[in-house]
Amino acid sequence: MSFKCLLLTKGDKGTVAAWTDLTEADLMDGDVTVRVSHSTLNYKDGLAITGKAPVVRRWPMIPGIDFAGVVTATSNPSYKVGDAVVLNGWGVGETHLGGYAQVARVKGEWLVPLPAAFTPARAMAIGTAGYTAMLCVLALEHNGITPDRGPVLVTGAAGGVGSVAVALLAKIGYTVIASTGRAAEADYLKGLGASEIIDRAELSGPARPMAKERWAGAVDAVGSHTLANAISMTKYGGCVAACGLAQGMDLPSSVAPFILRGVTLAGVDSVMAPRAKRLEAWSRLAHDLDVARLDAVTVTRPVTDAVALAPEILAGHVRGRVVFEIG
Ligand code: NDP
Repeated sequence: MSFKCLLLTKGDKGTVAAWTDLTEADLMDGDVTVRVSHSTLNYKDGLAITGKAPVVRRWPMIPGIDFAGVVTATSNPSYKVGDAVVLNGWGVGETHLGGYAQVARVKGEWLVPLPAAFTPARAMAIGTAGYTAMLCVLALEHNGITPDRGPVLVTGAAGGVGSVAVALLAKIGYTVIASTGRAAEADYLKGLGASEIIDRAELSGPARPMAKERWAGAVDAVGSHTLANAISMTKYGGCVAACGLAQGMDLPSSVAPFILRGVTLAGVDSVMAPRAKRLEAWSRLAHDLDVARLDAVTVTRPVTDAVALAPEILAGHVRGRVVFEIG
């Protein structure tokens, strides 16, 4: 049986993206085959499609680091035909053929059951961005950051990770300070539950080793000077969950906040996160994410828009979450 997919190949002038027909025989090894109904647009998908960073490490590649769909064939005893499933990460869309396709074949241990609280479309509205936002919230909680300790900063707030982090933190009782470069999105961020909006320019220049204490915790999707400033303004005993690099991969910081204020820097990785952590994150999302707020940050597009939207997400022009419908 043939199916449609977006295929990335390496051309003389860089990555070439083209809609192609493949057959199931072209798929890679795995014990579960899934009819994909939805995927999403992530920053990493933008990097893969444009070739702006070496995200793809197997050619040709189908991009799409996450998907939701229904099992159509399985030799894995944990799944049966008809089960609704979600996949995030594990190198899918990087080293293993990904989600921008009508069919995917993966290892069953990579999948999680679709939580009963969500449709496949809503699971992809959350997507890897929202699941990562939840992992960041869990990291703050694990490090003792409770709402009574003080506000929590979210950087890159109008992006995918940021929007879901704002909504989640507000719903579970934190006072949220949202940092954005898009002043026009202030009402959007307040609608998600942010109490205060700050201009990202306040955080994007070189950081002092330690500055006035402003927040008990932070969810940082931006890295570089922004992360350094977030750390330098974290209160005594606070925690910063670092998950992204939209400004840069560097961290021009100092040890001062760690050794003089006992600040914790918690690294958050969604790609190789163990299954137990994934199940915990999806279960908390089902409990703690306000679906109306999620819908407010989500737009739905045909997956054929992926190539046009890839440079847009890298330029920071995409607001909230994009769900791709796979026809
Ligand atoms: P988005 O592009 O949706 O969001 C990123 C946001 O960062 C933008 O919307 C913008 O927010 C802000 N931003 C962009 N460029 C800059 C800049 N130069 N300086 C400061 N802020 C900037 O991407 P995602 O939310 O999908 O991903 C965010 C980051 O998290 C990415 O780096 C991604 O690779 C990473 N990530 C990591 C994961 C992990 O497992 N660790 C999983 C998922 C994502 P605003 O306009 O509000 O300022």
